[in-house]
Amino acid sequence: MGKLHENLWVGQSRNSRDVIVVFDPELQIPGQSHVNLFSLLSNTIMVFSRKLRNSLRPLTGEKRDSAVLRYVAWKEQHAQDFVSSSLTKLKGEKEALVLLHKNRVDGLGLPYQGTRDNHRAARRSTHCYACTELLDGTFDIACSACGWLICDSCASCGCGYRPK
Ligand SMILES: [Zn+2]
Ligand SMILES: [Zn+2]
Repeated sequence: MGKLHENLWVGQSRNSRDVIVVFDPELQIPGQSHVNLFSLLSNTIMVFSRKLRNSLRPLTGEKRDSAVLRYVAWKEQHAQDFVSSSLTKLKGEKEALVLLHKNRVDGLGLPYQGTRDNHRAARRSTHCYACTELLDGTFDIACSACGWLICDSCASCGCGYRPK
């Protein structure tokens, strides 16, 4: 017999054993840089950095099964709402970023040429030159004029870049 809900991964924190989380690929939202995990302790989805994986050890056997059952009960009632509201939120954030980028280009006195979704946008550096935030490409939107990835934090692109 196969494992109960084989696609689910259950982990326990190495630091605090109370913390047990369930990873479900179906609850991950494309375009999000973080991971959504179900927390048994709070009985809800919590957002974690991808690096967290290293601080978890996988649970197996009965402990895994009981966590899976708790999660599946939650999922039946709440997963759909969670996914649709996450998608709506992401879409809103993306639209806001595009608008902010337009304002920036306008502010530079340059003709606005729009944006494009581009998973291969030129990344001149790993950090934004304007705000120094990490360019993690959550939205992967590029400026059509310069082809640079638009910073998720401040909406800067290459158009405003002035080499020192
Ligand atoms: Zn920035
Ligand atoms: Zn640009």
